[in-house]
Amino acid sequence: MEFSNTREFARSMDKEDPLATYKDEFIFPEVNNKKVIYFTGNSLGLQPKSAKKYVDEVMDDWANLAVEGHFYAEKPWWDYHERFSEKLAKVVGAKPPEITVMNTLTVNLHLLMVSFYRPDAKRYKIICEEKAFPSDQYMIASQVKFHGFNPEDAVVEVKKRAGENHFRTEDILKKIEEIGDECALVLFGGVNYYSGQVLDMETITRAGHEIGAKVGWDLAHAVGNIELKLHEWNVDFAAWCSYKYMNSGPGNASGCFINEKYHELKEIPRFEGWWGHSKERRFLMEPEFQPEPDAHAWQISNAPILALAPYLASLDMFEKVGMPALIEKRNKIVAYLEFVLHQIDEEVESDFEIITPSNQNERGTQLSVFLHGEGKELFNYLMKNGVIIDWREPNVIRLAPAPFYCSYEDMYEFGQILKRGILKI
Ligand SMILES: *Cc1c(COP(=O)(O)O)cnc(C)c1O
Repeated sequence: MEFSNTREFARSMDKEDPLATYKDEFIFPEVNNKKVIYFTGNSLGLQPKSAKKYVDEVMDDWANLAVEGHFYAEKPWWDYHERFSEKLAKVVGAKPPEITVMNTLTVNLHLLMVSFYRPDAKRYKIICEEKAFPSDQYMIASQVKFHGFNPEDAVVEVKKRAGENHFRTEDILKKIEEIGDECALVLFGGVNYYSGQVLDMETITRAGHEIGAKVGWDLAHAVGNIELKLHEWNVDFAAWCSYKYMNSGPGNASGCFINEKYHELKEIPRFEGWWGHSKERRFLMEPEFQPEPDAHAWQISNAPILALAPYLASLDMFEKVGMPALIEKRNKIVAYLEFVLHQIDEEVESDFEIITPSNQNERGTQLSVFLHGEGKELFNYLMKNGVIIDWREPNVIRLAPAPFYCSYEDMYEFGQILKRGILKI
């Protein structure tokens, strides 16, 4: 498609955009009495207008029904979490019984490692990416230490090649083959939080299985962003947070995928609690644990309904729109943003370097831009002028135009503000 860096062109793209009306379904902060251009949906998604209604419903049920709300609320609380499975299964390419929602992301990865990281003297290593998201690094190191191993030996990081911005699949596969039967677990971020690179999850999962390891994925930056086929790819487990592209609200609950092949394994180790106990028998207060027949067996505590309410509001929007439509717009709007960046780069003779892959199949919504020769001053200028972005040392800005609520005109407008910021006019 021929792009043009004009307001008129951007508006014509918005006019043809079937998702354009969704911008009005979200609440935008304002700077100088204008809605901001919001590029940080990869960090905290905007609030859907419907979220408050879902929360109010719970507050009203609590006020009017108190404890009876567990069974008689409009959406009863005792099985509220079950409402997520079918809707989320569509977002991540799973069967509904493979999905549950609980706790928060790092907590869930720890809990899933209880089940899927079972090291012994020979097979104990974890393969992950270098400079993984810090929480994942801490989690992985603490898990191997918990089992009596030394992270320096047991945590194997795949590195990028010198001077390159992306991981090469061949390097990941080579490392998996090299570690072979010493590898207990392969655990990567499906979409790299720093560069926005999408890993080839299907190929890496297959390679991990070939050496007899389990394969898990942290999908924090993948869910609601890229196409996922967790069941078809035969992934063992995955978890994600919901407050990034899923727009569920700060610190909100995490989703988990547990492959159905593990649901009936009686001996699978798991940290258990009453919300994972057989639903029909949950309130009989029996001494012996009888797991739910699906991923809900991994539930522990009764669910935080007030937190789940806005997540459900957002998920209902995902269900209405569907991932294919979001991905179609994502590809167009990210390509347009890339075009605008290149145009401005030429106009002002600056030296941006987009470190996100240019190939559409290897990236999602995020473009990470190295601002050679520009610094924090430019970042501050953008923020002051209503462009919400984030900054990563040394001087990378991450731009994620979430297709739900970003417009093509936003991309054009951003380019103009960026230009003024660089030229200091
Ligand atoms: C955002 C993010 C997290 C956050 O973890 P929480 O437990 O929700 O605080 C973890 N891992 C990755 C890769 C992330 O991008």
